[in-house]
Amino acid sequence: MEVESLVLDVPDLQHVATVLDAGLKQHFKNSSVRVVDCPDLTAEPFCLAAPGLCGNPRIVDVGGVKNLTPLPNKTVFYDFGSIAQLMPEVNSPLMIGAGAGPHDYVGVNCEMVSNLKLGDDGLSNQSRVSYVGEQGNVVVKELPDSQARCALMMNLLVSEGKPGKVLEVVAETRISEMNFVTALRQILAAEFGSQPVAVGGVFLLESGTAWCHVMPGFSDTPLCSDAEVDEWLRYYEMHAPLLFCSVFVSHDPGLDLRMEHSHGFGPDGLGHYHYDTTPESVKYRGYFTVGEQIVRADKP
Ligand SMILES: [Zn+2]
Repeated sequence: MEVESLVLDVPDLQHVATVLDAGLKQHFKNSSVRVVDCPDLTAEPFCLAAPGLCGNPRIVDVGGVKNLTPLPNKTVFYDFGSIAQLMPEVNSPLMIGAGAGPHDYVGVNCEMVSNLKLGDDGLSNQSRVSYVGEQGNVVVKELPDSQARCALMMNLLVSEGKPGKVLEVVAETRISEMNFVTALRQILAAEFGSQPVAVGGVFLLESGTAWCHVMPGFSDTPLCSDAEVDEWLRYYEMHAPLLFCSVFVSHDPGLDLRMEHSHGFGPDGLGHYHYDTTPESVKYRGYFTVGEQIVRADKP
């Protein structure tokens, strides 16, 4: 796998919190961003495979949309063990994020929320996938430990999953047109300019609904424009509570990065986050860390 790594000039976490706290007030009626001790993320409602987000955090972008469009490359699969080997300095990595599931195992093209830990004592895979069922419904499946794999593209936070200081972001009642993640990303871009700030973590949509897509089966006809991709995707309004794994980058230093990618699941299924549809009642709560490196692997 071809790999490029970039060691980042990581801003002080309190500085990032202060910048986000001020900036979010343009987008939400009530919001706060603080540096806190990471709560135990193995507990409900997060249920991650490790308690924290800290320890050698890396933002990892594997594959890309060009593996899907205009026509899918159905031979592209990634094993999480192989991805972890790209950063051997990260001990017993927790790998969380958004991408495409192993369609050869699932039987159909699918969305994926990665949530797994590779340890000395073995692997704990709590990842989930979703696909469009025969009735147009969203079907969610858990992946077994033997399927620590993904396909086409994956955006990850990889860390040692340790407790430590993280950003806590609380935001409710949206007053701008921008979605939660894009708002965070653009606030950082405005402050840090061409210095990339790469962020990963989890956020809850505690109330309201989110507009999410689920990829249907692979398209036999080429998808040559955003409009054609949009026509192909299936969209769903998913209700809270929704737990998202999310990665975003304030600036692409020429690595052909996906700037933001968030997948989440809840009672209505699992999908790719676009925005919430309930600005007046929406409430977000998230925990994020700032990556020390960007790892770009198998750029298509
Ligand atoms: Zn996605």
